[in-house]
Amino acid sequence: MIYTDTRDNSVKVDFKTAVMGGMNQKTGGLYIPVQFPKLNSDLLNKDPAPSFRDIAFNMAKPYVEGEIPDDDLAAIIQDAYPFQPKVVPLDSISYVMELFHGPTCAFKDFGARFMARTMSYFNRNEDTPLHILVATSGDTGSAVGSAFHGVPGLDVTILYPEGKISPLQEKQLSTFTGNVRALKVKGTFDDCQKLVKTAFTDNQLREKLRLSSANSINIARLLPQSFYYMYSSLVVRNRAAMDNKIHDPAIIMVVPSGNFGNLTSGLIAKEMGAPIEGFTAATNSNKTIPDWIATGDYNARPSVETFANAMDVGAPSNYERIKAMYTLDQVRQMFASYWQDNDGIMKSIKDCNDKTGYIIDPHGAIGWAAWDSIRSGAMNDLVHGIKNDYNKPGLTPNIPCWAQKVIDKKAVGVILETASPAKFGSIVTEAIGKEPPMPSRLEEVMRLPDRAIPMENDYNKFKEWLLANL
Ligand SMILES: *Cc1c(COP(=O)(O)O)cnc(C)c1O
Repeated sequence: MIYTDTRDNSVKVDFKTAVMGGMNQKTGGLYIPVQFPKLNSDLLNKDPAPSFRDIAFNMAKPYVEGEIPDDDLAAIIQDAYPFQPKVVPLDSISYVMELFHGPTCAFKDFGARFMARTMSYFNRNEDTPLHILVATSGDTGSAVGSAFHGVPGLDVTILYPEGKISPLQEKQLSTFTGNVRALKVKGTFDDCQKLVKTAFTDNQLREKLRLSSANSINIARLLPQSFYYMYSSLVVRNRAAMDNKIHDPAIIMVVPSGNFGNLTSGLIAKEMGAPIEGFTAATNSNKTIPDWIATGDYNARPSVETFANAMDVGAPSNYERIKAMYTLDQVRQMFASYWQDNDGIMKSIKDCNDKTGYIIDPHGAIGWAAWDSIRSGAMNDLVHGIKNDYNKPGLTPNIPCWAQKVIDKKAVGVILETASPAKFGSIVTEAIGKEPPMPSRLEEVMRLPDRAIPMENDYNKFKEWLLANL
């Protein structure tokens, strides 16, 4: 597969260059494949759906063709995915796609574990370590740290905004040993991301250290996230006839979004033939993308803190990929977009539990709120000219091409549950008056000692530290 660059489509690189470089240093652009080959129709039409790993292998194959032989790819997939997504029905037209059954209990395990194994594969003949720098608003760091921990030849430094992530998330980040460490930065997630981005464009630093990224800008994180969209859309398509007597429903993927890596992966799955009709982009008060969809103006801004903190992103990196793949008009056709403030998040956690019995986390809760609003009349209002003020929580005023299918009750919503509710235990407990069950792998991490290293929000200090310690 050939990969090009969002800022210069004359760029042509192979998978290894795209993965190991993270982004194109020369242009500052992000890599994307020049095409998205359709999954073969035998797999697409299979009922029951193929296994998750079968789908993963067959979707990954064209992107690594000529660079990773089939046997090695199969081993990578096998090793990366001892867990899989789980599709849970909420009611007759709503499903949850649970993406938190990996080691760190958030969807980022899917991307990080594939990326770690492909990087390790490409690094196998090198004799200097590859240094991964990663900025995290919560779940990225632990997924990446866990995915790379103990992998020879690779070394990981995680930057997170001190005090701005949940205590459990902080514990998950700050307790690594060996080749993985965390810096707690006095600043926001955007500050952390800026430190990392500045390091990548610092030639003096790059002469001394081989650097790579692991944020959702890396194509090796983005591609594997498309596997679970494909898998879940096939599962839902096959069982919807039983659950709700809708044959061939219009499947709407409802995606709690921050940096928009997850949603971009959904777009890739759709391009590859997944039976997905459209998307709902659900954000917290960091509504840069909903504002863009509503007004046509894209204004990156500083992030604000919310209860859904893994989505506290004011300048979503993958906007650049979405823009490279589609026009604004196409985006408005394909997407509904919805945002919710902190009050709304608390109400939605409770509302979901009251109506369905399901315990949802603060990120997934915005997805639930979006879908529940869409199917309970908000889309009908839009179609009939009653437009929502997009400055208030709710849907943006664009009417996606699938709106009528929702009104005609031919659509089902699949809400991506991006983290286990136990990772946000105190918020969830406050919302519903009972504690979500705690997976044992989270209980274990709470008992480990904290090893995070304090860091100023100052590029020169950060650089000094890197040079002295790596
Ligand atoms: C990272 C994260 C998100 C946002 O995903 P993006 O790919 O950045 O849009 C949503 N929910 C949780 C729990 C996350 O960890």
